[in-house]
Amino acid sequence: MKNTTRSWAEPYKMKMVELLKMTTNAQRKKALKDAGYNTFLLKSEDVYIDLLTDSGTAAMSDRQWAGMMMGDEAYAGSRNYYHLEEVVKNVYGYKYLIPTHQGRGAENILSQIMIKKGDIIPGNMYFTTTRLHQELAGGKFEDIIIDEAHDPENEFPFKGNVDLNKLEKIIKKNGAKKIPYVSIATSVNMAGGQPISMQNLKELRKFTNKHHIKIIHDMTRVAENAYFIQQKENGYSNISVKNIVKEICSYTDGATMSAKKDALVNIGGFLTLNDWKLFEEARNLVVVYEGLHTYGGLAGRDMEAMAIGIGESVDDDHIRARVGQVIYLGEKMMAHHIPIVKPIGGHGIFVDAKKFLPHLSQDQYPAQALAAEIYLDSGVRTMERGIVSAGRKSNGENYNPKLELVRFTIPRRVYTQAHMDVIAESACRVFDKRSKITGLKMIYEPKYLRFFQARFEKLK
Ligand SMILES: *Cc1c(COP(=O)(O)O)cnc(C)c1O
Repeated sequence: MKNTTRSWAEPYKMKMVELLKMTTNAQRKKALKDAGYNTFLLKSEDVYIDLLTDSGTAAMSDRQWAGMMMGDEAYAGSRNYYHLEEVVKNVYGYKYLIPTHQGRGAENILSQIMIKKGDIIPGNMYFTTTRLHQELAGGKFEDIIIDEAHDPENEFPFKGNVDLNKLEKIIKKNGAKKIPYVSIATSVNMAGGQPISMQNLKELRKFTNKHHIKIIHDMTRVAENAYFIQQKENGYSNISVKNIVKEICSYTDGATMSAKKDALVNIGGFLTLNDWKLFEEARNLVVVYEGLHTYGGLAGRDMEAMAIGIGESVDDDHIRARVGQVIYLGEKMMAHHIPIVKPIGGHGIFVDAKKFLPHLSQDQYPAQALAAEIYLDSGVRTMERGIVSAGRKSNGENYNPKLELVRFTIPRRVYTQAHMDVIAESACRVFDKRSKITGLKMIYEPKYLRFFQARFEKLK
């Protein structure tokens, strides 16, 4: 619960460490060139502090590791599946569970069972894999997030909120029948980890009920969103994150989960639905893409670690330290006047590359260039969230996103406060020499989700 008397110090201690390789500037220069200036193509071995993503990078607890030893590796009906099912019911309140290998496995099945050709799926900002699965199923994503979310300077505390007027316009234009569901993310990743408020969710529920439209929840970072509600929304300061999480889920009809984020595991995800008929269809389709419906592409041990991780993820002390560490890093950068997305979100710091490198145009890939520069300076690996990530429309044109960001994503329970200091120092050093940083040219572009594999050359 809200606690302002102590700092955010970690509610755990270490009993095993992983040694890291320290690199020289010359080694990093070569590694970067070999990787085509794309941090996704660097070898992990050449990275000192890895902030590429918070996905699958968490440190599991001793209890989770003990759970791994309790894996029931039966092909069908593993007891770990039943444990996970019970936890999903108890913690989130959803009725029916289908495990998947990770979040996009759930997105694929959901999109196939719910979206028909020509459908529209409104959502509070796109996510890369989510939108692609909607499109592959014949649907079209429409952004209904509030305008504030596209403005990195705007300090509104709930920039993940939905603009109901935007949704109403889409319904008026196309009819509610064309909208299989509204896609709602908690802690909106692409907006900088920005939360949606409980009030907004309640209003959205009322509005969609009126039009008989379902809400599907991208609950990848629901615990972090709940923490912000506890800290910032009226009436929630004395309610536990656990109870807030359950209330959030209660306003939605089902969810896709990438358990590699909030749920503190290295692999795993699920689809969960309250409607039996939809669940039946999903349960049938999962055997095509993932595996039998009681393992969905996961080993029994993975489901056990996930079940235990979900419980740990909604603990007040855990989430306070998790978000506290992110805020600690962000405040250090802000003190040096580095332009970052405000307010600071739940899973990382998003640096505004357009403001950081105002001398570069967006087609010189400022965020990609900045991520490369930070790696070169310190071996800290970040990633681009801008024009490269946004990709192309079906007509081949670039989506030119307003936000051109470099994401410093903090893995859960992995790095220390001293690591945060090193990261901030590096960002400050690069900021001080920003006018000398040149842009990039894309020399290889893959067809899907190009940011993962694109290659670049440095402009002179
Ligand atoms: C990571 C993520 C996904 C996709 O999940 P994977 O486990 O990477 O397949 C979907 N939505 C959001 C918001 C995510 O952050």
